[in-house]
Amino acid sequence: YEQEIKRLSSLDLIGQMAAGISHEIRNPMTTVRGFLQLLQKESRFEDYHHYFKLMIEELDRANSIITEFLSMGNTRTSDLELLDLNAIIHGITPLIKIDAFSQNKIVEVDTADIPKLFLNRNEIRQLLINLYRNGLEAMNEGQVLTIRTYKEGDDCVVMTVQDEGTGIQPEILEKLGTPFFTTKDNGTGLGLGVCYAIAARHHAKIDIQTSSKGTTFFIKFHLKP
Ligand code: ADP
Ligand code: MG
Repeated sequence: YEQEIKRLSSLDLIGQMAAGISHEIRNPMTTVRGFLQLLQKESRFEDYHHYFKLMIEELDRANSIITEFLSMGNTRTSDLELLDLNAIIHGITPLIKIDAFSQNKIVEVDTADIPKLFLNRNEIRQLLINLYRNGLEAMNEGQVLTIRTYKEGDDCVVMTVQDEGTGIQPEILEKLGTPFFTTKDNGTGLGLGVCYAIAARHHAKIDIQTSSKGTTFFIKFHLKP
């Protein structure tokens, strides 16, 4: 509980910084990117084409970190509509499968009959993307990632993302969701922070079960808020 409060207040602080960062850093970046693109097309810089490409890619990477950071700090309520969670999942399943296939990993989707929920489509997509990517990154070739939905009791719908990966050690588990916490060489450490923020805006709860056989993230939505 204490940990939850610490996490939420750090998210709140991020929220206050976010608006400023967005404007003051992103606008100049957009300008720089535009000129880089222009120079990239100049024939006399042909030999440096590769460097321009790298510079633009690095700018895009920095920009996407800012996007993730902003969406994590955003603690206001989202626009929620009554939507079919299964349809959102099936909508991005082809993308997830292509990503998994390219890494020789397997994705299975098993959705049950569930009532509609008040959701923000883009945020639920983002939540699922962040969770499935972590799942795949924890797994070896040939292993299976499973996305499920089911109803629990009278007033709860659960979405799970289950992987057969390495599992999460207790000392890492307690740091999850802390901005910039990552164990990966090229991780941003923002994926789960974004997931917690999105879940909070949906009044949903995230539970984690983990062992050496893999990890399952449970996103629990309430039918009656
Ligand atoms: P990133 O993926 O950029 O490292 P995240 O916030 O998505 O940032 O995850 C933070 C850390 O949590 C990861 O670096 C990893 O150590 C751990 N983690 C998250 N999901 C899983 C998972 N499914 N299996 C194992 N470890 C995980
Ligand atoms: Mg991640």
